[in-house]
Amino acid sequence: MSLQRFVVMPLAYLWASPASLIGVCVGTLGLLTGGGYQFRRGALEFHGGAVAWSLSRLWIRARAMTLGHTILGLSPHDLDDTRDHEHIHVGQYCRWGPFFIPAYLLCSVVLWCRGRNPYLDNPFEVEAYDLYP
Ligand SMILES: [Zn+2]
Repeated sequence: MSLQRFVVMPLAYLWASPASLIGVCVGTLGLLTGGGYQFRRGALEFHGGAVAWSLSRLWIRARAMTLGHTILGLSPHDLDDTRDHEHIHVGQYCRWGPFFIPAYLLCSVVLWCRGRNPYLDNPFEVEAYDLYP
């Protein structure tokens, strides 16, 4: 138990920290433009302001998006609805660390080139939607 708490978990946060840092930067912009934040289940969640503005302009019309141990959401309600799904991505970041974003994007490009859906057919999304649609 203490090995998990004092060694494995800090290493997982460190391993995922490059993406978390991007999330904190976007989240800080959200806070400066009227957004809010909350801690839930070991992740720092941001919502509203520039965070909501950015999410609403993504090509997939996302209600939430995970970057390391940060989750960006349109609103607290959207974060509540998508938390289980987004925490599958948190786990993926813990496994893939700084390679998660390049791997995710590479999968999307390959799928798009093959005429498949770059979001719904992406294996990272397939895992998350299989567990939490
Ligand atoms: Zn997802």
